[in-house]
Amino acid sequence: MVQECDVAILGGAFSGASLAILLRREVPKLRVLVVERSEKFDRKVGEATTEISGDFLSKRLGQMTYLAHHQLSKQGLRMWFAQDETTPFEECAEIGANYQVRMPAFQLDREALDTHLLETAVRAGAELWRPAKVVDMDATAGRLTVQRGGETLEVRARWIVDASGRAATLARKFGTWRPLDEHPTNAIWARFRGVRDWDGHELRAKHPKFGASCIASRAAATNHLTGYGWWCWIIPLKGGDFSAGLVYDSRLFTPPESGGLGHRLKAHLMAHPVGREIFADAEAIENDVKAYSKLPYFSTEVAGPGWQMIGDAAGFLDPLYSPGLDYCAWSVRLALGRIKAEAAGGAVDLGRINRRFRQSYDTWFRALYKDKYYYLGDAELMSAAYWMDISLFYLGPVREITNARGPDLDCLPFNGPVDGAVGRFMAFYNRRLAVIARKRREAGCYGRRNTGWRELGDGFVPDPRALGSFFRGFKRWIGAEVHALSLRSRPALAPPAVTARPVPIS
Ligand SMILES: Cc1cc2nc3c(=O)[nH]c(=O)nc-3n(C[C@H](O)[C@H](O)[C@H](O)COP(=O)(O)OP(=O)(O)OC[C@H]3O[C@@H](n4cnc5c(N)ncnc54)[C@H](O)[C@@H]3O)c2cc1C
Repeated sequence: MVQECDVAILGGAFSGASLAILLRREVPKLRVLVVERSEKFDRKVGEATTEISGDFLSKRLGQMTYLAHHQLSKQGLRMWFAQDETTPFEECAEIGANYQVRMPAFQLDREALDTHLLETAVRAGAELWRPAKVVDMDATAGRLTVQRGGETLEVRARWIVDASGRAATLARKFGTWRPLDEHPTNAIWARFRGVRDWDGHELRAKHPKFGASCIASRAAATNHLTGYGWWCWIIPLKGGDFSAGLVYDSRLFTPPESGGLGHRLKAHLMAHPVGREIFADAEAIENDVKAYSKLPYFSTEVAGPGWQMIGDAAGFLDPLYSPGLDYCAWSVRLALGRIKAEAAGGAVDLGRINRRFRQSYDTWFRALYKDKYYYLGDAELMSAAYWMDISLFYLGPVREITNARGPDLDCLPFNGPVDGAVGRFMAFYNRRLAVIARKRREAGCYGRRNTGWRELGDGFVPDPRALGSFFRGFKRWIGAEVHALSLRSRPALAPPAVTARPVPIS
């Protein structure tokens, strides 16, 4: 049996469902088929949006009301530092916002969100096969082989879109899938019950300085614990559970090694004074604990005649700052712009899409992530990056969506001459901060200001006021450069690996 359609989408989670919704709304004459392997989604990572993916969900997909009722509003990101596991909780350095955020962003239960988006795609007129698995394809000839309910079916489509996530079905078939070996990061994560309320009476009464020092909700933020070579996310979910995960660079850090994954993750969280306070009574939810090694990868080509890759099927970089769903949104817009243009009889330069995707991915990596794990655990260095990275994100990509939104085919960041220059500048200071971190390790003063201060800003806005935050970070970077001039290597005095050792848990 052969099924004909215009667009066949492999995978119906965030990326696949979003593209199906937009295609049906913006080019209703196209017949869209979504093939989704799972019978039911489960909870997964990709729970914190930025302002880019928040805007995509709330405005472009028109889901603001759904998000307000069924998901949580996110209150920015917050970072916590400690000298070692004995640092008193109230002394841990904190960077974040003092006030609630000004732009929509969300903490997502992905099982609920992806289910809702796929239902929305079906309501918009997409056909859904589920559970059904794509077992073979000839993308250049527009042919898919699908197994569904014991039958093997053939699908013919003018466009095949791979939204299969890390399975990256098409990239692996074409041999264009590549690991990013320069960035050896890995992750372990779980959902927890019984996490203490960051904003509640118990913690505020026990630690009055902590309670009085911030106006915004800390619980609603994405909280980050940090150390040399690693960071942890703590994300609240609607209903009271928390998602927590550890991401580490295997050149610099090894997580606790004994016990099951959930036990190892909790042992690590408990080794940080802030984690200990928040997770003391928490328990990892059974069967909701996972790990991935070698997180980053990409496809050397993401578009070709009759096919395109979107979301994680095209590549993934690093979860720090939550850019995953941003890239999903951007790559969905690219596929949408291309299919719309071709459906209207136009020709799209696919080579340009491939060049721009590679350039954007590579610049993003060098600007934000390359060797960042060397300085993540040093409050002073990370604070310099925090203010510069986020203000430039607001002045670049976030400004693009709040001002005159450009065409979908031009949505990727770091492609224009100005963006490109900003990307190179970011790569420069990122590299310098990593060099200073190494010098500090050798001189025994890594994390020298990890205690006794909080830096809570007014919040970011996508206009020239963000320059104030940028210069705050810039000054701190220059200060660190000046301090580094006086550093001499003193290996004998190297500090303990900051908060790296697990403490026993009851
Ligand atoms: C540790 C970690 C933490 C992260 N944290 C964040 C974060 O906080 N914020 C953020 O924005 N991003 C985050 N990300 C990234 C985010 O999870 C992904 O970018 C996002 O989930 C990708 O969505 P997707 O729809 O492209 O793919 P997926 O969500 O993986 O969906 C792929 C779908 O394809 C289906 N499928 C696969 N193979 C087949 C087949 N052969 N036939 C039919 N269907 C198939 C699957 O069943 C699945 O439903 C994180 C990633 C990692 C690794």
